[in-house]
Amino acid sequence: MAYSIQQSESLFKRAQLSIPGGVNSPVRAFKSVGGNPIFMKSAKGADMYDADGNQYIDYISSWGPMILGHGYKDVVEAIQQKVGEAISFGAPSEMEIMMAELIVSMAPNVDLIRMVSSGTEACMSAIRLARGYTGKNKIIKFDGCYHGHADAFLVKAGSGLATFNIQAVPGVTGGVASDTLVAPYNDYEAVEKLVNENDGQIAAIIIEPVAGNMGCILPKPGFLESLRKLCTEKKIVFVFDEVMTGFRLAAGGAQQVLGIDADLVTYGKVIGGGMPVGAFGGKKEIMQHIAPLGNVYQAGTLSGNPVAMTAGFTTLSILKNNPNIYKELEQKTTQLNEGLHKTLTAKGIAHTINQKGSMISVHFGAHAVTSFETAAKCEISLFNKFFHHMLSSGIYLPPSAYESWFLNNALSSSDIEKTIEAVSKF
Ligand SMILES: *Cc1c(COP(=O)(O)O)cnc(C)c1O
Repeated sequence: MAYSIQQSESLFKRAQLSIPGGVNSPVRAFKSVGGNPIFMKSAKGADMYDADGNQYIDYISSWGPMILGHGYKDVVEAIQQKVGEAISFGAPSEMEIMMAELIVSMAPNVDLIRMVSSGTEACMSAIRLARGYTGKNKIIKFDGCYHGHADAFLVKAGSGLATFNIQAVPGVTGGVASDTLVAPYNDYEAVEKLVNENDGQIAAIIIEPVAGNMGCILPKPGFLESLRKLCTEKKIVFVFDEVMTGFRLAAGGAQQVLGIDADLVTYGKVIGGGMPVGAFGGKKEIMQHIAPLGNVYQAGTLSGNPVAMTAGFTTLSILKNNPNIYKELEQKTTQLNEGLHKTLTAKGIAHTINQKGSMISVHFGAHAVTSFETAAKCEISLFNKFFHHMLSSGIYLPPSAYESWFLNNALSSSDIEKTIEAVSKF
């Protein structure tokens, strides 16, 4: 049967009448890859099903959270049971302590942790805390890294903005933007220069320890180590944005895998098991400045929501108790990596594949991709064609050349073979 997306097309027409651009988050709109978004109806295991009944092998896993696969039995049952008890209290409950204790037991350098409802909130609050704690105003971020859509971060912010070629965001004041300094990823000298030029004014350096918002980009050996040393010397708070890498690269995230200590860590995505959850945590010395212990104010009506905590707690417990999951995920991703490389090479298509654990991306270009600049030099238009070819072959990739792919552990070896076979027909 021919690939038909009639229902999606009509839903998209209808959506645009009541939702800006028809979507609730811009990258879903397919604007960069062209065409119209596919509307999903259900998902199970490694597959998603759209409104027309088409089946797709899912390589975004809700941008990470569905790491165990869709509809994972234990998670679904735990949520169902919790909903029967309560949906929300607006008062403390034991599930929040269980969640905090679990994360403290999994993540290095987290003595105290505060729950929020998104990665954006987590990063925004971590920076406010770093400023409140140090009494300094400026922050350094990296070109191509995304830390959510709070004002301070919408400067050279990777995938979302790059996808739409947005240079400066209307609505972000010059004052806010001028407190955010930007260095190229993997360029330590540039950071050192910024720190020296702004001596005594840098509150925090925030980084994706493995970048996922300009495709997948790995830190060069020594880069994070040097930043760690610089932060310690200059009393700068080193913030690891582990919204993507946390609980994905390992139970203890990038800190554990790379062996680097952060002062503050932010989480999102996997931490909620598919529910809206984020968190920021770190050393007690810093975290104790958060209200009500300290004066750095931060709050949330639905923070620590019992149903969301249950989804996150169940997912994280499974990951903690089954370290094999990470080995399996990495094996599957390596199988994909090798298959893609072999097939694209046979077809004479220049490419660079970056992979860390179950994060992977294909850049169409022969050069090494180590920064936003090098990522942007790839053939974006070829990726867009590739995306649509894969989509109509039943493979759902991120609809942007600037996004990492995220594997889930429901993917089977034969799913990956099917994926490679679709690539061979490109
Ligand atoms: C997705 C993401 C965020 C923002 O999280 P939201 O839950 O979308 O607000 C922040 N940082 C990184 C590294 C991300 O990938």
